[in-house]
Amino acid sequence: MSSHFRILSVIALTLFTGISTVIAADTFTVVIDAGHGGKDPGAINGKKQEKDINLNVALETGRLIRQNCKDVIVIYTRDTDDFVELAKRADIANKAKADFFISIHTNSAKNSSANGAETYLLGAEENRTSANLSVATQENSAILLEKDYQTNYAGYDPKSPESQIIFEFMQNEYQKESLNMASLVQKELTGTAKRNDRGVHQAGFLVLWKSAMPSILIELGYISNQSDRDYMTSSKGVEELSKCIYQAFKAYLETTRSQKALIAQAQGGSNNTTTAGKGTSAKSSPSEKKKVQDDTPVFKIQFLTSDTKMSASNAKFKGLSGVESYKDGKLYKYTCEPTTNYDEARKNQAKVREKYKDAFIVAFKGGDRIDLQKAIQEAGKGR
Ligand SMILES: [Zn+2]
Repeated sequence: MSSHFRILSVIALTLFTGISTVIAADTFTVVIDAGHGGKDPGAINGKKQEKDINLNVALETGRLIRQNCKDVIVIYTRDTDDFVELAKRADIANKAKADFFISIHTNSAKNSSANGAETYLLGAEENRTSANLSVATQENSAILLEKDYQTNYAGYDPKSPESQIIFEFMQNEYQKESLNMASLVQKELTGTAKRNDRGVHQAGFLVLWKSAMPSILIELGYISNQSDRDYMTSSKGVEELSKCIYQAFKAYLETTRSQKALIAQAQGGSNNTTTAGKGTSAKSSPSEKKKVQDDTPVFKIQFLTSDTKMSASNAKFKGLSGVESYKDGKLYKYTCEPTTNYDEARKNQAKVREKYKDAFIVAFKGGDRIDLQKAIQEAGKGR
C-alpha cells in the first residue's frame, strides 16, 4: 500500500519488537477436539454420556494451555453441546493450519471390568488386535449420523471391518510427532493421574485421517467401568486428566521448538553453500546432479503409494518430473522432483501438493531413505 502505511508498520514493529518477534517466530496452533456432541452422545452409561466428559476435559485442557502458554493459539472444534461432523472437525484444523490436533474421547466395553487410558495415533498396527480395531470402528461410526458419509469418507463404511484396509496404504507424514505426543500423554495419564496403562496404539480414525497435521486421539477411560466413570465425571478427575494432557503438550511444544531452532540454523547455513563442489548455484541442475556425490542428501517429494508397480507413463505422473519409486515392505512409494536444496524441495512440495495434497518431503542418501531432519542439518553444513 502507501509508503506512509509501510513507515507506520515499521514503527509499530519497532515499538512492539519483543511481542511481534515472539508471535512471528513461535506461534503454535493446537486444535482440541471434544469427541461427539449434540445428537451424538458417544458412549453412554445410565445418565452419564461420553460427550460431556470429553467436552469438560477439552475445555479445561484448553484453558490451562491458554493460561500458561501465551504464544499458543487454542481452537476448539466445539465448545458447546453441538453435533459436529468428523470431516468438519478436521476441516477446522486444516483451515487454521494447526500444528497439532488432539481428539478427546471416552471408551466403553461390554465387559465392565475393562478400565484404563490409551492413546492412539493414526495408522495400521502390525500386531493389531480386534480390540483396537473396534475402538476405531466405534469412534468412526459417528459418521452414520451424517448425511453424505459415503461420499465424504472415500467409501469408508464403519459397519464393515474390511473398510479399515484403506488405512493400510495411508501415508503418515506426521507419525514421528504424533507418536512423541501420544507417548507423553500416556506417560502423564498413567503416572500423574494413575490410570491403568493400556498403552499407545495405532488405528484408523477418520477424524485423524482427515487432519493434515500431527494428531492423536485419547481414550481417557471406560464409561462402562464404575471406578473410571466416577473418576472421569468428578471435578477432581476432569482437573487431573486435563492437567495431564496440558503437561504432555507443554513437553511436546518444548521439544518441537528446540528442534525447529536447529533446523532454522541449518537452513540459514544452506543459503550460502552450493550443492556440488565448485558450483555457483544452490540449485541442482541435471548436469550438476551427476557431480553430486553419494553422501549428499537428496530431497524428493513423495506423493503416492501403491501395492503394484505403476508404469512410468501412468497418467498420475503427468506434469511431475523425475518420478522414481522405491520399495518399502510390500509397497511401492513414488517420489518426484529430486533436489539437494531443501528450500527448493519445499517449493517443489507446494507445487506437487496442488495435485497431491498429502505430498511430503523425504530424504535419501546413497539411495537409502534417511531421516529428514538429519538430512536438512547435513545439507546445511558448509561444503
Ligand atoms: Zn468417542
